[in-house]
Amino acid sequence: MKNGKPDENKIASLIRELLAELGEDPSREGLLKTPQRVAKSLLFLTRGYSLSPRKVLNNAVFSTDSDNMVVLRNIEIYSMCEHHMLPFYGRCAVGYIADGKVVGVSKIARIAECFARRLQIQERLTWQIARAVEEATGAEGVGVVMECRHLCMMMRGVEKQNSVMGTSAMLGSFRSDPRTRQEFLSLARGTES
Ligand code: ZN
Repeated sequence: MKNGKPDENKIASLIRELLAELGEDPSREGLLKTPQRVAKSLLFLTRGYSLSPRKVLNNAVFSTDSDNMVVLRNIEIYSMCEHHMLPFYGRCAVGYIADGKVVGVSKIARIAECFARRLQIQERLTWQIARAVEEATGAEGVGVVMECRHLCMMMRGVEKQNSVMGTSAMLGSFRSDPRTRQEFLSLARGTES
């Protein structure tokens, strides 16, 4: 880190070292620009560290009289597991019951992005999205369900190609009222397509 920001050149030189340690020749033609590319790519994939839901939501919270359920589904998730730094990807659905405030629909997806673009475990990612939506809207209830495939399971370890991991976080009335939860789950159904 340099002045609190990741240093792209430093990352590139670490990748060059890594390639050599793996038995590669970092000076061969195909790999010459790889360290810099990997550094750029890693910074993109972890840019969530410099994003905050509060900034994302700036001026995008509106008043409403409605107390209906709002559900956004098929939000694409691309994240990286913190155990292996391998990708996991899938979809999530976010629902809430407004209590005087709603947020612009695209902002919900951007909240998810803030947390997905970090090293994560799926359980925490699901939870953080729910908490951020709750905090932003003051909703009486929030639900998040997520289904992802984890490359660390698919291409190494147990090599389970078709397993999909499901997680959920239910807050407020989504937790306490089974009918609310059921309404949300039926609207959220089909998140993996
Ligand atoms: Zn993993």
